[in-house]
Amino acid sequence: MQTAMTTPNTLPLHIRSRGLVNPPANLERVTLEATPEFLADLATHSARLETATPEEIITWAHERFGFELTMATAFGPEGCVILSMLAMIAPETYVFNLDTGYQFQQTLDLRDNIAEKYGIEVDMLQPELTVPEYEAKHNGPLYKTNPTQCCFDRKIKLLELGIQGKSAWMSGIRRDQSEDRAQASIVGWDKKFNMVKISPLANWTKKEVWGRILAEKVPYNPLHDQGYPSIGCWPCTRALQEGETGERAGRWSGTAKTECGLHTIQESDGSGI
Ligand code: SF4
Repeated sequence: MQTAMTTPNTLPLHIRSRGLVNPPANLERVTLEATPEFLADLATHSARLETATPEEIITWAHERFGFELTMATAFGPEGCVILSMLAMIAPETYVFNLDTGYQFQQTLDLRDNIAEKYGIEVDMLQPELTVPEYEAKHNGPLYKTNPTQCCFDRKIKLLELGIQGKSAWMSGIRRDQSEDRAQASIVGWDKKFNMVKISPLANWTKKEVWGRILAEKVPYNPLHDQGYPSIGCWPCTRALQEGETGERAGRWSGTAKTECGLHTIQESDGSGI
């Protein structure tokens, strides 16, 4: 059930989505055991789904996990495409965003455009401390001095909240995005969060994603037209400079950091890698 449905409908969407949306009602973690049999079963499905379409993969995930399936989205092109597919397959799926307080306004607006077009209201999960409170506590913006801690406090903790009561989550990662992501399986075991991870677009290329967006007029972040191939929080994202090609080159520029920790590959043997 989309928790956003319970918010007052007299408020405009962008107000309803800012902290007035309750986190998932079921706060018990679903505990799955990564037994060799279970991992082997996931590997079998992953291998079989290698040639499936993203829609077929999402349908399988929905049939297998039902209400225990969720998705975190930062409203990247891949996330928007999956949302457009979910709208046709399982619109009741709980989808959430890690609303760090540092997102671009264009990203926040996109949440409302998606809701308007597809009726899927992505839940905006927010950290306990507002940005001013957090920066006051740390004597300034932590993204400048310790981005790993900042990502942990303002993303990973929210992810842990979003996945409560869930046993599987979908991500929009593609294998051709980075070396880290090249190892992603279609269906695998996410050791870090102890849940099944499904990547319906793992085999898609950037061209296929954008082909779908343009063909079906899927709403997307206008910053992509201004040189930002990958968009996260504004302090840690910049447009690509001349000569840069890596899709994620504009993220945490000038540091060794390439991921916020959500999609660092930590999958078990047998998970189909
Ligand atoms: Fe903080 Fe930057 Fe991570 Fe956002 S991406 S949570 S601003 S370090």
